[in-house]
Amino acid sequence: AILAAGTALLSSSLLAGALAQDTAAEKAEALLQQMTLEEKVGQLTQYSEAWDVTGPAPTGDVAREKFEHVETGMVGSMLNVIGAERVRKIQDYAVENSRLGIPMIFAYDVIHGHKTAFPIPLAEAASWDLEMIELSARIAAREAAAQGLNWTFAPMVDISRDPRWGRVMEGAGEDPYLGSKIAVARVRGFQGEDLSDPLTIAATAKHFAAYGFAEAGKDYNAADIGTVTLWNVVFPPFKAAIDDANVRTVMNAFNTLNGIPATADEWLQRDVLKGKWDFDGFVISDWGSAVEMIDHGVAADREDAAFLAMKAGSDMDMESYVYRDHLKDLVEAGKIDEELVDDAVRRVLTVKYELGLFDDPYRYIDEGREASLLFTDEHREASLKMAERSVVLLKNEGSLLPLKEGESIALIGALAADKDSPLGNWRGQAEKGSAVSLMEGFEAAGIDFTYAEGAAVETGDAGFATEVEVNLDDRSGFAEAVEAAQSADKVVIVLGEDALQSGEGRSRADLGFPGVQQELLEAVHAANPNTILVVMSGRPLILTWADENVPAIVQAWHLGHEGGHALTNVLTGAYNPSGKLPMTFPRSVGQIPIYYNHLNTGRPGPRDVVFWQHYIDESNDPLYPFGHGLSYTEFDYSRLRVRNRGDQVEVSVRVRNTGDVEGEEVVQLYIRDRVASIARPVRELKGFEKVSLKPGEARRVSFTLTDEELGFYGPRGDYRVEPGAFDVFVGGSSEADLTATFELSRD
Ligand code: BGC
Repeated sequence: AILAAGTALLSSSLLAGALAQDTAAEKAEALLQQMTLEEKVGQLTQYSEAWDVTGPAPTGDVAREKFEHVETGMVGSMLNVIGAERVRKIQDYAVENSRLGIPMIFAYDVIHGHKTAFPIPLAEAASWDLEMIELSARIAAREAAAQGLNWTFAPMVDISRDPRWGRVMEGAGEDPYLGSKIAVARVRGFQGEDLSDPLTIAATAKHFAAYGFAEAGKDYNAADIGTVTLWNVVFPPFKAAIDDANVRTVMNAFNTLNGIPATADEWLQRDVLKGKWDFDGFVISDWGSAVEMIDHGVAADREDAAFLAMKAGSDMDMESYVYRDHLKDLVEAGKIDEELVDDAVRRVLTVKYELGLFDDPYRYIDEGREASLLFTDEHREASLKMAERSVVLLKNEGSLLPLKEGESIALIGALAADKDSPLGNWRGQAEKGSAVSLMEGFEAAGIDFTYAEGAAVETGDAGFATEVEVNLDDRSGFAEAVEAAQSADKVVIVLGEDALQSGEGRSRADLGFPGVQQELLEAVHAANPNTILVVMSGRPLILTWADENVPAIVQAWHLGHEGGHALTNVLTGAYNPSGKLPMTFPRSVGQIPIYYNHLNTGRPGPRDVVFWQHYIDESNDPLYPFGHGLSYTEFDYSRLRVRNRGDQVEVSVRVRNTGDVEGEEVVQLYIRDRVASIARPVRELKGFEKVSLKPGEARRVSFTLTDEELGFYGPRGDYRVEPGAFDVFVGGSSEADLTATFELSRD
């Protein structure tokens, strides 16, 4: 039923949304007219309940000061307030103690599920299944809303080409087209058809902009990129979230972009976002990003930070307290025009009206819903389905997989028994250690297995370098693992990262398996070559040795609560894997950034004669390309047809399941604009469809290319559709080789 509701989100609701929004804006305007400057500033201030976790160093009694402020109803929003009861208490302060009774809006990082953990966002992206992704966000929203929350800081729509950056786990990978479709699905999932429905929440497209291009993949680092990349790669998912899903808020970013901190970037926030794109929601600054401008060396002091942020269009201040402390003075001194403050407040109030908070400030708070809607069987079932679809079969030589009945298995690796890591980073309210491990999945499926840990992985919290809980150099478990491997028909070895080795502040310079896991893999493989490697990680790892030596490799990410069941289903063939990589897997760290939609050099050459355009010590090719993923069946692509019909091009292809089991395939279409006014990528994804085919079944899959797919942005953000020859490539990965050419004509 939720699936049906999740998909019925189309045009009539857009119209209804637009009408409701007009009314909300009018109401916001009327309220604004009654507000004092101090009250306005309060609406632009957001505090965290768990304020002291990573925030700026507190001076004086910050917590006491904050709560006095909250108690008098002078704060517009809080984040990290958990539980209906606590939300009710704080909403009471806002409604009862403030002069105008303005309700608060409660935010939280609802990233991949809330109480029921779904796969990490990068894993979900690997499903290329937009309906399931939308449903996942819908369920997360429903659980969060049942706890009184009405706003999530998701989706993260930052495109990234750098797996060293730990936050790739939170995004949709490297491609702007796939990233845009997923951004829209997630926003629709969170926001639903009607924002005032107490089972939906407002979404945030973050982090504007170019946070995913942090230099060298080091979190928070400067982004220094050209405008062609900004317009064509970084911006599209933000624009899509606004145009196609009416996302209500946008979060700015910690980083500088070409020298300007995003929070002070007037061009980004006022000219592009609120100007060119007509974004009518509000901008929330990232945690303390206003005050961080002092360290960037752009704001002289806290007052200057408030000045720069407000001038640039950062509407609400998360945890810098600089609006609270300085905005009123800045207006009274004539340095900030009160109209800028009014514009920000209008935007915030409008979203509060849209959420229905003025009709009933307690509409989201319902202890009954909180008791009945969290972690339900229905939600776990959806999480299982999402997890199955997120797994990517990277390699399967000699059909080692699926496991056959009656085979004895050596199950090896700490992650195989780990009930916590599958929950991933940013796991919301999921309880520590509550996931189904792969070992439990094997038990439930009645698989004949022996377990050996081999080597430990858990490191405490890599991000904050706290308590290293285990000895990572400990090889004392190797012997037991080798013995188990020797006496089994096959080995399933689970290696990779624990939950907190990816995510914010978890950049890595080495993308191998942490600790002695690689040595364990080599020892176990030497003992039994029938080894299946299952990789749990929040990012692409370097799997080059494994690819050269191990016959079967499965990319399992962090799959959420039902991870163990989902993986078991994939390994046994109860579910035929259908995931495709949303990021290129490099052969070595030195290739990074490596991505499929790169530009050519002037010396491309055929693959084997790469005249000077090469590393002297590494191949140019990735280990696994973007879009790659195998199935237990095979798909044959044929009869590619391209028809040029006036202002659109129709492409179709016949896809046939040539194996003997049913399977799903993500049919992918790429184009290349051969000659253009600026260099264009060698390939760009411009269409995909996930189809399910029975053995022997064939289907014709069609795509339509319009100006939206055929054009591109020039360096000043001007959109160009240029006539001339285009190549089309269709197949099951970005290396698809079925190709045709068409000529685009324009007057
Ligand atoms: C992150 C944001 C997040 C915020 C609130 C920041 O550190 O960059 O993505 O929404 O914290 O938790």
